[in-house]
Amino acid sequence: MIIILKPQATEQDANEILDKISSLGLKPLYMPGIERTVLGALGDERILRQLHLDSYPMVDEIKPILSPYKLVSRELQAHDSIVPIGGINVGGGKFTVIAGPCSVESEAQLFGVSEMIKTQGVPLLRGGAFKPRTSPYSFQGLGLEGLKLLKAAKDKYQLPVVSEIIDPADAELMYDYIDCYQIGARNMQNYRLLEAVGKQDKAVLLKRGMSATLEELLLAAEYIINAGNPNVILCERGIRTFETATRNTLDLNAVAYLKEKSHLPVFVDPSHGTGVRSLINPLSRAAVAVGADGIIVEAHLNPKEALSDGHQALNADDFSQLMADIKPFVAAAGKYL
Ligand code: PEP
Ligand code: MN
Repeated sequence: MIIILKPQATEQDANEILDKISSLGLKPLYMPGIERTVLGALGDERILRQLHLDSYPMVDEIKPILSPYKLVSRELQAHDSIVPIGGINVGGGKFTVIAGPCSVESEAQLFGVSEMIKTQGVPLLRGGAFKPRTSPYSFQGLGLEGLKLLKAAKDKYQLPVVSEIIDPADAELMYDYIDCYQIGARNMQNYRLLEAVGKQDKAVLLKRGMSATLEELLLAAEYIINAGNPNVILCERGIRTFETATRNTLDLNAVAYLKEKSHLPVFVDPSHGTGVRSLINPLSRAAVAVGADGIIVEAHLNPKEALSDGHQALNADDFSQLMADIKPFVAAAGKYL
C-alpha cells in the first residue's frame, strides 16, 4: 500500500505512521520526495486493512499496490532505478555493454579478452568462476582461482566484474573479488541464494529462468530487494520453446513488459538467448531498439579453444563489428554508450 502525505506533513508525522506500520509487523518504506513524502506498507493484505490510515490528518491519499510484486514495481517507484556496479552506473539514459568469456580459463585468456573489450570502450567485464553446467563432466570453472584472476583483470584494466554465484555460502567469499553477483537462469528460483545476495550491498544481475514467467522473475527480484539489496538488474536470456533452431528463444516481449512494470534496469543476453554467433549482432540491435538498458555478451579471443560456450563466443573482429553496429541504434533510442 502507498500512503501519500499532504505537502505540509513533517518528518515527525511520517515517523508516527511508519511506527504504526512497523508495530503491526509490516514492512515500512520511507520515500521523501521534493514536493511530498510517500510512505509504503508491505505485508499481509489482511493486516494492511487494519491500519486505518485514513484517520491520520496528514494522510492525503492511500493507494493499494495491485501487482503481486511491490518493491520492484513502477506503482511504488515511477522513475527508473540506476544501479551502480563498481562505480559504473547502469540504467537511466545509458546503454551498458558487459562482455567477457563464459568461463575464466587462465590469466592469458582473461587478460587477452579484457584488453580487447577495454579497447572497444566496454566498461564492465563478465566471466564465470563457478559454472552451473548441465553435465557434471563439463568444465565446472576455476573457483577461487578464477575469482583471483577476475580481480587481477579488474585492477589491470579498470573493468569492474560480473560473475555468477551458485552457492549461498560463497556470497561473502566472492564479495572481495567481484562487483556484481550474477544469478544464473538455473538458479532464478533458488530463494536461499536470492536472500544471500539480498544481504550484500553489491549489484545483482538476475537472469530469467529458462521456463520462468515474467511474474516469477519479478518476484525473484522482489526476494533480493526484500532482503535489503535494492541494486538489482533484470536480464532476459532466452526461454525454452518448441523451437530448436536456436539454443533458446530470446523473448524481447519481456524487455518491453519489464520496463513497463518495473523501475529496475533490464538487460538482454543475446549470447545465451540465441546460442548462435551470427545472431548475436542483430539481436543486440533489437535489444537496444526495444528499450533494454544494456547487453551482456560472451567474447573470447579464440572461441574454438573455449572451455564453455565457444560456439556462441564473439572473437575480436565480431566484437568490434557489434560495437560499431549498435552505435546508431543506441543514438536512435535516445541513449549513449
Ligand atoms: C552464463 O552467463 O554463462 C550462464 C550460464 O548463463 P545462464 O544462467 O543465462 O544460462
Ligand atoms: Mn555461457
